[in-house]
Amino acid sequence: MTNVPLLDLGPQNRALETQFEAAFRDVLRSNMFIMGPRLEAFEKDCAAFLGVKHALGVSSGTDALLLALMALGIGEGDEVLLPSFTFFATAGSVSRLGATPVWVDVNPHHFNIDLADAARKVGPRTAAIMPVHLFGQSSDLDALQAFASAHQIRVIEDAAQSMGARWKGRATMSSGDFGATSFFPSKNLGGMGDSGLVTTQDDALAERARILRVHGMQPKYYHREVGANFRMDPLQAALLHLKLPHLPVSYTHLRAHETVL
Ligand SMILES: *Cc1c(COP(=O)(O)O)cnc(C)c1O
Repeated sequence: MTNVPLLDLGPQNRALETQFEAAFRDVLRSNMFIMGPRLEAFEKDCAAFLGVKHALGVSSGTDALLLALMALGIGEGDEVLLPSFTFFATAGSVSRLGATPVWVDVNPHHFNIDLADAARKVGPRTAAIMPVHLFGQSSDLDALQAFASAHQIRVIEDAAQSMGARWKGRATMSSGDFGATSFFPSKNLGGMGDSGLVTTQDDALAERARILRVHGMQPKYYHREVGANFRMDPLQAALLHLKLPHLPVSYTHLRAHETVL
């Protein structure tokens, strides 16, 4: 019997080994181990790749979701629509803030959120919808936006499995109030540890997320609200920055699926 590994990260990481070693040495000699220019350079290129105004490196995909919800002020008394078929973190981040996850069925053909069912679950306490672009497939971003504006709710795109996926040319993470992705080693862009990314097109929301990422601190040692430590390491950023150009842009075939249905 042959053991076929579910995922072998060896080939993609070995190909860049020399560059990774150089990046490590560079960070080591810089003596800057928290945020700084290496993280900012990575964020800038992520933003360009995704076509978003703001991209913030954070500690994990889970923290990316949590930070987005916090920046939107979602908490106790709020309901958040999310698919019943996803990784735990989507609902976990909602519950952690005292808000209530409301389960929405998924479409049996592509497993992304079914907006017809979302329409049955939306109510006066619904604050947001969190579509999960599962298995590298973008949801219908136009339909999502139409749904959100009709019901005046926020959109947080869980793109932990879909960085690089597009809907009619638009990247996931570029049309919601916030996008969130994960650089967990097995994800589309896999790091060498935990980290994630939050994106937004909105200046004010970006600023709020930026402050909450560092304990709600601004200026230094002044805290008007409680955030957390959601920072991403510059070492992780430097390593991921080398892999970013190799992330192929995948176009979703969701529309083709829809015509088959
Ligand atoms: C992986 C994943 C997350 C969480 O990301 P982490 O970086 O592991 O915290 C959230 N949502 C989905 C759909 C995921 O697949």
